[in-house]
Amino acid sequence: MNWDEFAHWGQQISKWAAAYHQTLSDRPVRAQTAPGAISAQLEPAPPETGQPMETIMADFERIVMPGITHWQHPRFFAYFPANAAPPSMLAEMLVTTIAAQCMLWQTSPAGTEVESVMVDWLRQALGLPTGMTGVIQDSASSATLSAVLTMRERATGFTGNREGLNAKGAFRIYCSDQVHSSIDRACWVAGIGQDNLVKLPTQGPTFAIDPDALEAAIQRDIAAGHVPAGIIAITGGTGVGACDDLVAVADIAQRHDLYTHLDAAWAGSAMICPEFRDPLWAGAERYDSIVFNPHKWLGAQFDCAIQFLKDATPQLNTLKIEPEYLKTSGAEVTNYSEWTIPLGRRFRALKIWFLLRSYGLDGLRARIRNHVAWANELAEKIGSIEGFEITTGPILSLFSFRCPGDDDMQQRLVDALNDDGRIYLTQGMFDGRKIIRLQVGQFDTTREDVLMAADVIRDVWGSLS
Ligand SMILES: *Cc1c(COP(=O)(O)O)cnc(C)c1O
Repeated sequence: MNWDEFAHWGQQISKWAAAYHQTLSDRPVRAQTAPGAISAQLEPAPPETGQPMETIMADFERIVMPGITHWQHPRFFAYFPANAAPPSMLAEMLVTTIAAQCMLWQTSPAGTEVESVMVDWLRQALGLPTGMTGVIQDSASSATLSAVLTMRERATGFTGNREGLNAKGAFRIYCSDQVHSSIDRACWVAGIGQDNLVKLPTQGPTFAIDPDALEAAIQRDIAAGHVPAGIIAITGGTGVGACDDLVAVADIAQRHDLYTHLDAAWAGSAMICPEFRDPLWAGAERYDSIVFNPHKWLGAQFDCAIQFLKDATPQLNTLKIEPEYLKTSGAEVTNYSEWTIPLGRRFRALKIWFLLRSYGLDGLRARIRNHVAWANELAEKIGSIEGFEITTGPILSLFSFRCPGDDDMQQRLVDALNDDGRIYLTQGMFDGRKIIRLQVGQFDTTREDVLMAADVIRDVWGSLS
């Protein structure tokens, strides 16, 4: 392909993208294909000769598009959002074009410097204190793994990387039973082990970790000769939006000199609105590490996870490695690959710059406020359907409900709704019961889209019962 052809197809694809978004609400939200249906249509072996773009694009429409679940659909209420605001998509096109590796300052000074400033813009936007720095990671899972490795390394007096972990005792990490599975996996990968991830019960309307149980668990472990290494708190758990009492957890961590990580992957975006910070965000400034994903609710296209660090030194002491070929001569500069596990890194900061400048914080706040308000309205509407019960929340824009009947009935309703295609939502487990989970957060959703969910649910329920 030459660059003139590239320019032509670039224009075609931009037009396709706009039309896709403009007609998205006519498509079923969840892909309506059976397993294997897409792969069966692909040639089993690669072509020996090149094919024209017309053919490739036509096959893309014919084969690929039917197998897409539309995350940008205005009636996507499943999981959490994965918003891609148009200015952020445009920035990604530029990033893809330049295709720079931003592992070191000198491998693209603008990559590093825009990143430092964007992390600081977001620090201010979330009401976090001056002095906190940070880095953009690919995912919250990677940020959490970095924090767990730092907890482990710090608990060994920074000798683990060199000596290994043999005979250093059982490192213990504490969290509530509402944490995301990425915390479990970080503990597996870090060699902590699932059995040493101590999950404690929750209490109250936000399902916060029980501080007395946390304190007691740490004391029990110390008495048993274990090595407490860190605490992971959550603001906005994945299941039902659980939020810990950050002050209570930070007090306990301080008492025992434990490293703290706060997982706010989803709910962090809402903290650009000052009214949501009290009480959910009170104490966040005391955490050693905080992760939030602008690629969820805020509108910066995947991948974009911000890890804020109160002091970057412990994480650098854990992850930094500097072979000769990566040394930068001369000035003191930031090399972000030393802050993370992968060496290579994309220019992720550009889409934040485009996004924040294009909408301003006020434009983004207006969306999040609407989502929270509409989620509350919707919960009320669903709660008033005969026999339906709101089981949790809303916490910010996430709530859960049950229809009449047993757990199987909940699953039947979820499947029927997703087969219907007008809305998309998913099930979860809470308190030993199956629940139906619903979050509002798609960037372009309207009040009408959101409230329509109640009508669709009533309608589909009527056809089932
Ligand atoms: C989505 C989510 C994660 C995982 O995020 P990735 O960026 O996909 O790794 C972790 N924690 C919470 C609370 C989440 O909502």
